[in-house]
Amino acid sequence: YLYPNVLHQLYWGYRESFLCIRLSFVDFNSFVTRTNTCGELRSAHVGQEVTLYGWIQYQRQGLFLVLRDFQGLTQIIIPQDEAHSHVKKLLSNAPVESVVRVTGTVSLRPPGQENPKMPTGDIEVKVETAEILNSCKKLPFEIKDFIKKTEALRMQYRYLDLRSFQLQYNLRLRSQIVMRMREYLCNLHGFVDVETPTLFKRTPGGAKEFLVPSREAGKFYSLPQSPQQFKQLLMVGGLDRYFQVARCYRDEGSRPDRQPEFTQIDIEMSFVDQAGIQRLIEGLLQYSWPEERGSITTPFPSMTYEEALADYGTDKPDTRFGMKIVDISDFLRRSDIQFVQNALSYPRGTVKAICIPQGVRYLKNKDLESLKESAKSQFNQCSALGSLRLESADLLEAAGLVLRNPTVFHFLWVVDFPLFLPKEENPTELESAHHPFTAPHPSDTSLLYSDPTKVRSQHYDLVLNGNEVGGGSIRIHSAEQQRFVLEKVLKEDSEVLSHLLEALEFGAPPHGGIALGKCSLFLCHQNRIPVLRA
Ligand code: ASP
Repeated sequence: YLYPNVLHQLYWGYRESFLCIRLSFVDFNSFVTRTNTCGELRSAHVGQEVTLYGWIQYQRQGLFLVLRDFQGLTQIIIPQDEAHSHVKKLLSNAPVESVVRVTGTVSLRPPGQENPKMPTGDIEVKVETAEILNSCKKLPFEIKDFIKKTEALRMQYRYLDLRSFQLQYNLRLRSQIVMRMREYLCNLHGFVDVETPTLFKRTPGGAKEFLVPSREAGKFYSLPQSPQQFKQLLMVGGLDRYFQVARCYRDEGSRPDRQPEFTQIDIEMSFVDQAGIQRLIEGLLQYSWPEERGSITTPFPSMTYEEALADYGTDKPDTRFGMKIVDISDFLRRSDIQFVQNALSYPRGTVKAICIPQGVRYLKNKDLESLKESAKSQFNQCSALGSLRLESADLLEAAGLVLRNPTVFHFLWVVDFPLFLPKEENPTELESAHHPFTAPHPSDTSLLYSDPTKVRSQHYDLVLNGNEVGGGSIRIHSAEQQRFVLEKVLKEDSEVLSHLLEALEFGAPPHGGIALGKCSLFLCHQNRIPVLRA
């Protein structure tokens, strides 16, 4: 939680360093009758006649008010003389958040009354005329970042919530980052922005899809989980380098880090390998990364899926802190602790531990009890140690230790995933770890036909601070191999994908791609301080 004045300063700090500098050549006053925004006036403007439009942020005792728009705040002095009694009455009676137009003269604030925290803090505007353009009724909550309000109320009055500095900042930052990404992809690297259809048919595997009724009874469209098939077809069509800020639809139930519709930066390239895609994404993020968040170092470190599971108990490790999982089976083999010996007696039975260096100091008995309870409730799931590691970190942080600095960004590539995993609901059947179009690892291709469970893939995920923020793969470009995977391994009806299989037979180039923005922390959540999603 940031204190209001800190948040306010941060906001202005960000605006100054990122938005204002990058937008310094932008004319915010074109096509409208205002002369300036509420964030623009400085001592250099003293003496100028100005017209401002904005919302009333505060009004004090009929003496002054603060006017706000998307760019900032300006102090307005209400005239007290008889000739302006009409203006005084108008402004003194207008409720907060009413939208007004004022004209007046910029003057310096009296000595000692400057506000160094406000970019417009040296000046004020002495009002000549004013007009209430629309009055505001009683608000459901105050438009101040530090006023606590429930999520439900914020959603109901989203348009009011959007007036806050934080959300204004988030949406503008998102827009700037997407613009920088377009610049990097199209202008520097020759990508083509192509829009693809959203009324489509079923794609086997993956999430549940949303259906849209058609005019023909019993027939439905599916909303695509991603433009995966379209972008592959674009490669067959010789586009060479495609990207799209693409809307995707997945019915993933109540997973807290997912949303039914979200946006991703969707990319596909011909004649590329895994390393090529990784360098492209590192360059893209470095180019579009907001300056105020510091720079990011490339290349990003890389870890195999196997290492990730062994050391962190998850395929999306948060590498901002240690507390890795260690195998202590050998150490305990000679012990006479019965339950340990039981565990070790199973085939491939191991005993693993997490060392919590500060645990003695920070963890209380009730914390240890809650860890034990979670361990019990996840008994037999191999992800258990991964979640215990995160839970221990939560407990340490609740006790005051900072382990996961939210201003630090640890990017990580996770590579060498298995091509197939046992289905959760029926482990004797296989499903694609990424999607059915992913190519096998070149050194494992022959295993595809003998033991598909052992095949590694050319699938890579981008992980940021323990969240999966992107993923992609090099694709199968041989129709024969694609048909084998669909029919023989996944036991899918390949008819559903006959159009794609046919396309692969017409000289499809080798190709691969990626999508950034799967997890809601990335490109589409409008609420939080954004990572990339605003
Ligand atoms: N279509 C994939 C996804 O949205 C990304 C990719 O493989 O390029 O997860």
